[in-house]
Amino acid sequence: MTKPYVMLVDDEVPFVETMSKRLDKRGLRILPANSGEEALVQLDHESGVDVIILDVKMPGMDGIETLQEIKKRHPLKEVIMLTGHATVETAIEGMKLGAFDYLMKPCDIETLVSKVGEALKKKQAHDSKIEKARIDKLVLSRGYD
Ligand SMILES: [Mg+2]
Repeated sequence: MTKPYVMLVDDEVPFVETMSKRLDKRGLRILPANSGEEALVQLDHESGVDVIILDVKMPGMDGIETLQEIKKRHPLKEVIMLTGHATVETAIEGMKLGAFDYLMKPCDIETLVSKVGEALKKKQAHDSKIEKARIDKLVLSRGYD
């Protein structure tokens, strides 16, 4: 089985480094990014990313702007927002804009891993429905019935 591919986006470099190591130990393949701009460039090159863990408060493109751009370009990828106490409202706005869920910082690693698992399940179910629709269309177009 291939490892879930997860992008971790946060402007705090030590946080990204530490979390990447911890998540890697738990069986996830991690792609780190330190800004919204970097995240978008990475996503253009790495089509296999399943889930994105996204900090709300970042200089330059903030979490909401990044989320909107991700959802516009890659609507099937699931996004989990990371927020501090001061920005819970922003996380709620994120969910209205299509984020899968949010977690409060500092977040417990087990909670984060299980949230990633839930997001992955949702994405896989969605992907397989699309795959089924493609097959149905193919079968219909060939006139089997
Ligand atoms: Mg931040």
